[in-house]
Amino acid sequence: MAAVVCCRRFSVAYLANKRFMSSDGIRKGLVGMMGNTPLVRLNTMSEETGCEILAKAEFCNGGGSVKDRAALFLIQDALQKGQLKPGGTVVEGTAGNTGIGLAHMCLSMGFKCVIYMPNNQSREKIELLETLGAEVRPVPVVAWSDPANYNHQAREFADSIENAIWTNQFDNTANRQAHIETTGPEIWNQTGGNVDAVTFGTGTGGTLAGVGTFLKEKNPNIQVVLADPQGSVLCNYIKHGKLERSEGSSITEGIGQGRVTKNLEGAPIDDALTILDTDAVNMTFRLLHEEGFFVGASTGLNVSAAVQVAQKMGPGHTVVTCLCDTGHKYYAKLYNRKVIEEKGLLDCIPEKYRVSLHD
Ligand code: PMP
Repeated sequence: MAAVVCCRRFSVAYLANKRFMSSDGIRKGLVGMMGNTPLVRLNTMSEETGCEILAKAEFCNGGGSVKDRAALFLIQDALQKGQLKPGGTVVEGTAGNTGIGLAHMCLSMGFKCVIYMPNNQSREKIELLETLGAEVRPVPVVAWSDPANYNHQAREFADSIENAIWTNQFDNTANRQAHIETTGPEIWNQTGGNVDAVTFGTGTGGTLAGVGTFLKEKNPNIQVVLADPQGSVLCNYIKHGKLERSEGSSITEGIGQGRVTKNLEGAPIDDALTILDTDAVNMTFRLLHEEGFFVGASTGLNVSAAVQVAQKMGPGHTVVTCLCDTGHKYYAKLYNRKVIEEKGLLDCIPEKYRVSLHD
């Protein structure tokens, strides 16, 4: 039978079944640029701790963040199940990297992309998604429990039109599967199995749960540590079984949670840490000035957690985390002097690194 041409020269079967992260050295289109990211040794932090602090450079994915892996798997899952066909529409409720990843993916595969987001999001985010060809629908900011919440509106819209899917990044476990099948094995292979702990900040939970699930099967002694920002419930949940928020709110974006998502449910987690914004921001600017990596605050939080885990374990251990995305999206907040001052975070940035703050 002749292959059904999906769009952009690929058949549905090809898009649904191939793992594009393969290794013949030639990346096949944008989807071929998902995964197989470099594992980088963070030299300063490694030397300081006497451990190997390693990080997957997830900003090297085709859409620029760790969420590209999930975006690809969410679409592939729908294709495999026949829920999405050529010319179809991908719908998601998101203000962040998943939307960006989906929008890139839709352009490369020939789908339409509709993004619902709360209407308090920055102009830059809307413009970026629109530039990537997505139709952006800002809706009033209401809680998850309200049917008008942006996630529910995304689901309803997808249900109301033909050949459309709501990718549902929080509770669709194709997200976690991306990390079970790609990020986890990559870390195992790149370290030759020489890894003592992994730590990741958690938004949907896909990265931590997926990597943790894969690595624990390989070696149950590998410690899986959840890194939580201020104001999230997950650290208390892991440590005390209570969905209670920690104090404060965080400048980090894309991480922290108020509930246990399906992607996080049942994940093999040994410990959790609340990382203060002062530590996450300090590390973000250290990564820039000491290592040359221009990253977002969730990366600062990840690396700060990795250093804390390494210090607890003692010299000689290997701790792996990830560099989630670059700093470009965060000029207006994280790299803005006024915002940093207002949030009382200026003192945690070493004076000589403050040249990176702009007005
Ligand atoms: N960092 C950033 C910048 C993100 O956008 C996200 C996802 N929202 C994460 C980290 C966490 O990834 P996950 O959803 O897999 O928990």
